[in-house]
Amino acid sequence: MLKLLSSSSSCLHGRVHGLRPGPASELASPVLRVLGSLAGLTRQNCPASARRAFFCSNSGNVSDQVREVEFKAAGNEADAKSSSAIVSTNPRPEDYLTVIALPLPHRPLFPGFNMPIYVKDPKLLAALQESRRRQAPYAGAFLLKVELGTDPSLVSGSETDTNIHELKGKELFNRLHEVGTLAQISSIQGDQVVLIGHSRLRITEMVDEEPLTVKVDHLKDKPYNKDNHVIDITSFELTSRFIDRVKTCSNWLDHVKTYTQDIRDLNIPRFADFGAAISGANKLQGQEVLEELDVHKRLKLALELVKKDIENSKIQESIEEAIEENNSLDEHLKAIKKELGLETDDKTTLTDKFREMLEPNRENCPPHVLQVIEEELTKLHQLEAGSSAFNLARNYLDWLTSIPWGKYSDENFDVLRAQKILDEDHYGLTDVKERILEFIAVGKLRGTSQGKIICLSGPPGVGKTSIGRSIAHALNRNFFRFSVGGLSDVAEIKGHRRTYVGGMPGKMVQCLKNVGTANPLVLIDEIDKLGRDHVGDPASALLELLDPEQNANFLDHYLDVPIDLSKVLFVCTANVVEMIPNPLLDRMEVIYITGYVTDEKMQIARDYLEKTIRDACGIQPEQVEVTDTALLALIEHYCREAGVRNLEKHIEKIYRKIALQLVRQAASDEPVVSGQIQSPPDGPAGVDVQLADTYETQAEAVDKLDQSVVASKNQIAAEMVEGNGHEYIPQTSGEGVAIQTDLPGEPAVAEVQVADTDEPVDSKHAKETERIQEGETTKKVEKVLVDSSNLDHFVGKPVFHAERIYDQTPVGVVMGLAWTAMGGCTLYIETTQIEEAEGKGSLHVTGQLGGVMKESTQIAHTVARAILLDREPDSTFFANSKLHLHVPAGATPKDGPSAGCTMITSMLSVAMKKPIRRDLAMTGEVTLTGRILPIGGVKEKTIAARRSEVKTIILPASNRRDFDKLAPNIKGGLDVHFVDHYSQIFNLAFSDDPN
Ligand code: ADP
Repeated sequence: MLKLLSSSSSCLHGRVHGLRPGPASELASPVLRVLGSLAGLTRQNCPASARRAFFCSNSGNVSDQVREVEFKAAGNEADAKSSSAIVSTNPRPEDYLTVIALPLPHRPLFPGFNMPIYVKDPKLLAALQESRRRQAPYAGAFLLKVELGTDPSLVSGSETDTNIHELKGKELFNRLHEVGTLAQISSIQGDQVVLIGHSRLRITEMVDEEPLTVKVDHLKDKPYNKDNHVIDITSFELTSRFIDRVKTCSNWLDHVKTYTQDIRDLNIPRFADFGAAISGANKLQGQEVLEELDVHKRLKLALELVKKDIENSKIQESIEEAIEENNSLDEHLKAIKKELGLETDDKTTLTDKFREMLEPNRENCPPHVLQVIEEELTKLHQLEAGSSAFNLARNYLDWLTSIPWGKYSDENFDVLRAQKILDEDHYGLTDVKERILEFIAVGKLRGTSQGKIICLSGPPGVGKTSIGRSIAHALNRNFFRFSVGGLSDVAEIKGHRRTYVGGMPGKMVQCLKNVGTANPLVLIDEIDKLGRDHVGDPASALLELLDPEQNANFLDHYLDVPIDLSKVLFVCTANVVEMIPNPLLDRMEVIYITGYVTDEKMQIARDYLEKTIRDACGIQPEQVEVTDTALLALIEHYCREAGVRNLEKHIEKIYRKIALQLVRQAASDEPVVSGQIQSPPDGPAGVDVQLADTYETQAEAVDKLDQSVVASKNQIAAEMVEGNGHEYIPQTSGEGVAIQTDLPGEPAVAEVQVADTDEPVDSKHAKETERIQEGETTKKVEKVLVDSSNLDHFVGKPVFHAERIYDQTPVGVVMGLAWTAMGGCTLYIETTQIEEAEGKGSLHVTGQLGGVMKESTQIAHTVARAILLDREPDSTFFANSKLHLHVPAGATPKDGPSAGCTMITSMLSVAMKKPIRRDLAMTGEVTLTGRILPIGGVKEKTIAARRSEVKTIILPASNRRDFDKLAPNIKGGLDVHFVDHYSQIFNLAFSDDPN
């Protein structure tokens, strides 16, 4: 069993005592003299990797020296516990022709160097001890060949300590390099055997397998001429490289010192060995040097190895320098970050930052909050930076210090200003604006607008949110909007507990941080759509937030200090007031916005939506015209809902398309020819485009320009250059020539001539005059005309057709009026008789009716029967008829009691086989005795009736006041009948009056 000691780190210096020569200057060899002087050099640092050279000791063609060692050692043997080399004087090393072969795994043993190995095989160890005892302390040390598939460039071998000792006999023999070293067994301590390299050997044959014993030839260096010039130069080169290396590496210096101490004469072949042995050569490179018997070649190989070592050490040095530089760069970066306040982990920077954030509000900050902030700052200092508690405290402080404690915007109670702002932003809504102005007026008198929560209720798109924004503007408050539609988590309002992972404060705290003032206007959107789940009831949390009694000390779970929200003005929006939780509704002042009729929508579209959208699209007013008929068609056939959001979207669509056309046209290089432009064969019909004379007719322009030429430069400039220095030249003398574009909806576009400001004004004007006089027609301004005929090119096919299904309602069909969250609509109630048989009187109902509506059908059935019997006592119609009542559209769920009178009329129409009068619509809840009860949504229903071109409507008498309040444009031209009993409806519906 054999285990070899790794040579990587241990460095045993020569143990060949008694060879100490004189001082370096006395050394015989010139090489050794140089080395001797080197040994006197001061130690310097050497990169770790360079400390690879290992044993350094006596060398020889050294048989005499070795013998000397042996004698000395023999004399001391009695004292030494460990065995030292005892060799009989008789056999000389060259006499050993059969030796035990020892495998070396990592590198070869060079003559003059020592190497410890571990021998684990007891038999081998015994054999080695036996040779020592027989005073034949020599063995052969041979490098193991590289295993197949291993990288030979690696310094260390691939063999592990465990598998080397498993190699035996022939197998081991085959793995050994032929050339090795005769090694003196210097000492054996336990299983450690120290070998000293003596001279080169070559294996000739195997003699014994266990332990592996081989026959060897002793190799001699090829004779060389000491005065050979080439050898001289090479050895000189090697020496100077050596000096370079020794100067920079303390490890090499150690080797040199040891070597020069132990060697009397260092000749050139030894020097080459020495160089190769202490360089970082890998095992094969080392073996190559060992096998080389030509001295010059060996010198050259050694020189290469030393050069390579120097190169490697340089690379290593530069890497180390770069690392050091990087470290110092890191330090610099840290310092800069600290200076800029970016150094997040620096506690002092952090606390300074928080104090800075708090500073503007410190005076107004409540004392209890200041105390909490100070406590947290102290805590932050004590906590380990980067720990979760530290991050928690940091986030908490971040929130605490970013709340605008006691910072308010100056409230403006100027009613006239407010009115102006409201009018500027919104058309109509007179009563809504009035209510808001009242509210502001009260605020002015009281000095504060607190204590009220306004709730704007109405269908989508009627301007609830934008009114909220206008109120904020009018009052000079910051605006913040958050939607609570579908919100079910209380934490959204009250915040998470601070210890909750990813915890955040509630919406109000976020709002305050965002707006930066403590008195914003907060618009809580969709309050009627509040969700609810097992975690809690957000309605109660909202109550705490909105209630003026409670919100002066609103406690957010995350912030954990009370904040004063009493100065915040809350405005809520809802579509259906009935869906708002009652406790919340109690505290609100509801302002209803019902929706717009066509006229109002036209005004809004013209005066508000179109302008803003046009500006947003970057289109000039003179570049486009949307006619009234187009707008009307858009409202009637595309955007029928109560609000104007959809209308806004459609107008946006039109303008976007126009913008694209304008840009495309401008990009095209083709000159636009005036007159009729043909549509491409595959495109839809073209769009009417007008060429508009922007300023004046050609003749006028010429006049003007002529005058300008003689006028002063400044005057000319003022007259000719309008706005941004753009000048529009009318192209044709005729106005509004309708042409067709070459692309569908892609009108010809004006080319704009830009006044060349670099040119002298006079000459410029002269040129312009010339051009116009010549009738040059390359520049023109054109207008995209959108009217009802080409509207569908911009917005597609109409979505709505007339709500009327029947021109004249047939028997059993009556038009009712309904209210939806989207506004009002008309709906038909249809009844037919399925079969008639004695005692078969019944009613079958369809049309997705809700519970209330189903009950209404039963009531209607009863009342209709009673009325018919009253008028025709013998009638058996209801007693014997199976009726089917249906309310289209069947896919839409419907509910509510207001269709009661319509149902009765429909049933009576079937019973009497008589259609009701033309263009009549009705609404009203009916009791069993036939009394008509009031309904809601009078405005929406009236608007819906107008839309369906109904001429006569029947409303409950109790709703007269609601109707009277309607604007004349809504109620005008309608024949309205107010009724309080069904009999009145009967008379109106079934009268023989053809009108
Ligand atoms: P809501 O909140 O009721 O759903 P918005 O306030 O978002 O509706 O309004 C939708 C769009 O309609 C906004 O661009 C708004 O300016 C516009 N709008 C609504 N009503 C009017 C009005 N009376 N005058 C001018 N623009 C209006």
